[in-house]
Amino acid sequence: MSNVKSDIEIAQECKMQPITEVAKNFGLSEDELELYGKYKAKVSFEAIKRLENEKDGKLVLVTAISPTPAGEGKSTTTIGLGQALNKIGKKTFIALREPSLGPVFGVKGGAAGGGYAQVVPMEDINLHFTGDMHAITAANNLLSAAIDNHINHGNTLRIDSRQIVWKRVLDMNDRALRNVVVGLGGKACGFTRQDGFMITVASEVMAILCLASDLMDLKERLGKIVVAYNLDGDPVTAKDINVHGAMAMLLKEAIKPNIVQTLENTPALIHGGPFANIAHGCNSLIATKLGLKLGDILVTEAGFGADLGAEKFLDIKCRYGKLKPDAVVIVATIRALKMHGGVKKTDLGAENLDALDKGFANLKKQVENMRKFGLPVLVGINRFINDTQAEIDLLTKKCQEFGVEVSLNDCWAKGGEGGIEMAEKLVKILENEQSNYKPLYDENLSVADKLNTIVKEIYGADGVIIEAEAKKQIKKLEEIGLDKLPICMAKTQFSFTDDPSVMGAPTGFKITIKDVRVSAGAGFIVCQTSNIMVMPGLPKVPAAEKMDIDENGVITGLF
Ligand code: ADP
Repeated sequence: MSNVKSDIEIAQECKMQPITEVAKNFGLSEDELELYGKYKAKVSFEAIKRLENEKDGKLVLVTAISPTPAGEGKSTTTIGLGQALNKIGKKTFIALREPSLGPVFGVKGGAAGGGYAQVVPMEDINLHFTGDMHAITAANNLLSAAIDNHINHGNTLRIDSRQIVWKRVLDMNDRALRNVVVGLGGKACGFTRQDGFMITVASEVMAILCLASDLMDLKERLGKIVVAYNLDGDPVTAKDINVHGAMAMLLKEAIKPNIVQTLENTPALIHGGPFANIAHGCNSLIATKLGLKLGDILVTEAGFGADLGAEKFLDIKCRYGKLKPDAVVIVATIRALKMHGGVKKTDLGAENLDALDKGFANLKKQVENMRKFGLPVLVGINRFINDTQAEIDLLTKKCQEFGVEVSLNDCWAKGGEGGIEMAEKLVKILENEQSNYKPLYDENLSVADKLNTIVKEIYGADGVIIEAEAKKQIKKLEEIGLDKLPICMAKTQFSFTDDPSVMGAPTGFKITIKDVRVSAGAGFIVCQTSNIMVMPGLPKVPAAEKMDIDENGVITGLF
């Protein structure tokens, strides 16, 4: 196996073109780029404004079956598909999320695709990139500092320090910061209270950046953030604290989309990266809209499986952005489907047609779900080296019998070349099938009705159980008039149920809602089925221990 090159080795061999050249081929002039070195740039507001009235290309969402530890390869497929579409002459842009440093140093490693389907410069994208994460961290923490400062200087807003919901953030996995006490040190250091840190990508500021239509909308949304409740139980917002303008100012560069290239020198927008649990899990609306103007096709991605990531893309992002997706590609791997059929990770190397047959249920349900949004679907099988011909034939046959178009792709091993069949099938769908996209529910329904619609239609549950505390929280949202927003489900990504160990496509279960909170600036209600880890920890041997840099600046171990 040692002759299989690592992602970073492949990325370092790439002959990148200057980003000005890559962008020029898609109609962006050098003047419209703000360069961060030779291979990274931000696209200026002037360019976005110039393109405003151009016709939109087709919008394609890449999503997946419920993830398993076997891995699915959504980013790899998104990038490979973009490369393949360009190879067959379709001007295609890719839009992806920005990686967070937490997972880079933890278990996952980088997030810039894999094999011969990657975005480059891979090291920069995975590390500080163009500084967006740091700007978001600063904006978030400015608000935190201002809240404690307000309390220190007399607390005219009568903030109840036991009910401050705004947390500090850091772009790092650091479990020691989950619960902290601030304000120790006596009178000069403010009032003592318990606080906590989240990872930057979990910040509402990140979600807002990704849903804002422009800088002024960003500022308005920042102002709406509920940071705390006062002694009467009324919400206190960032606008009340009066730093939303300064927060928007800190984000003036971060809001501009970043442009880089794939290993095959086709363009990719990488911008924003909200968590896919307590937030909506897809790149910025601004990047998606820009890509639609610049390409005949824009391929973008949503986090986790289709039941979570795609549902939020379709019910939150498309609703706010007035986007009309044209097709969905659902990524499946034979390995992961075998796990859904009951095979242990250690036994995945062996052919197992029975397990594949059984695990297909997860893929089938995800396809049915996407059709509920009125969307044409293509299944993209991401080929792994150990997949057997009999397994590939069985999966293909099952898709055909079910009536969904399917294509095997080898983008990881062969880049765009390996995705040509998938690209051709997608183009056929885009040309011949009509998208009748509509969100799943009306956001004006009650919170309970919206929840019941999602869990019954998408998860296949019998209904929702709302615990007493969550019921109180919903009542509060109704009282303050913040209940008529779309729902952002925060549930395990590994199962249609709220129990991560239940795989496949189960029936006869209910979903329990424990906690309901509003992200009023982002514009959604986060409904949690369990405690969501908003500050991850590092594993016993973090990926960071394998990373290094030599005297020539060559990086190793960033996979
Ligand atoms: P996701 O977007 O679903 O999290 P990624 O595309 O980031 O998944 O891929 C996760 C990891 O799996 C990457 O390191 C990538 O190189 C690897 N990978 C993806 N597809 C394949 C494949 N077909 N064969 C081997 N490794 C793959």
